[in-house]
Order: sequence, then structure tokens, then C-alpha cells
Amino acid sequence: MSIEDLNKQIYTCRRCRLWQDAKKAVPGEGPLSAKVMIVGQNPGAEEDETGRPFVGRAGKYLTKTLDEFGIKRESVYITNIVKHVSPQNRKPYPDEVNACLPYLMAQIKIVKPKIIVLLGASAKGTPRINGIEYIEVIHPSAAMRFTKMRAKFRLQIEDLANRISN
Ligand code: URA
Repeated sequence: MSIEDLNKQIYTCRRCRLWQDAKKAVPGEGPLSAKVMIVGQNPGAEEDETGRPFVGRAGKYLTKTLDEFGIKRESVYITNIVKHVSPQNRKPYPDEVNACLPYLMAQIKIVKPKIIVLLGASAKGTPRINGIEYIEVIHPSAAMRFTKMRAKFRLQIEDLANRISN
């Protein structure tokens, strides 16, 4: 399947209830040749407005930190485990995650990343595929808020940068 066909399916998805209160689906973005895929939880308000992943506060913080360690946002594929915003930004329910998961698996099949970065607790549940390296990283929204988490987050992004260059 092409990424265009996949994105069309995501834009018109009705597999769970989340589309009802969302303005836009947020499939994800990045080059199809990306070695690294970053997976968050689900879009927030700004992502819902723009249709783009990680463009709000947490996203800007993520982009800035990646950049500090020499990783250009434009070089990675950025997406979420769930493609629609949730009411009051609540954590997606397990049935919503399960309904959306085939899209992420299809994205992985198309992009074939070497490394997948799982941001935060929700993304940790992503099924693992042999031959892909998975790195669990603190979610940038937690890293922004808590000093200790920020230090750990920075170390994890530094480790990611080292793995990319090796
Ligand atoms: N948080 C996420 O997990 N994903 C986004 O796209 C934005 C914020």
C-alpha cells in the first residue's frame, strides 16, 4: 500500500469513536526513507487544528532537543500510536489503541525504520518486530515539566543520536 492510500484511510477512519470530536486526523509526517520513526501517544489540540504531529508545546520541545543533538526533525518520521485527538486530551482507551494500531503497523511496513522511538507509557505497548531496534524514551511533555525527567530525556536523545551515527 502507498502512504497516500494509507493516509486517505486514516483521514476517513471511523474504527473508533475519536473521529467524532476531532477536527483533523493526524497521520504523521516525514521522509519515507527515514531511518528513525518517532511514535507518540495521540495528537493534542494544536495537532488537531493543523493535522500535523508534534507541533504544540511538547512537539516544539521535542524538535528543539532533537536539534541540539544533531537530529533534524525533517529527517525522522513522526507519528502517534493513535491518530485522532481525544476529548479533554485524555489517554486513549485500549480499544481505541487497538483500533488504530494497524495504521502504525502499516506505516512501519512502508517506512521500514531501523530504529523506533516510543515516547511515553502509551507508545510502549507497540508490538515489536524482529530486526527493528526499539528505544523507550520519556514523553517530552513530562520532560518539560519535571527536572529529573528532563535530564533523563536528554540522555535518551543523546543515546539515540549516538545510535544513528554508529
Ligand atoms: N503528544 C503526542 O503524544 N503526540 C503529538 O502529536 C503531540 C503531543
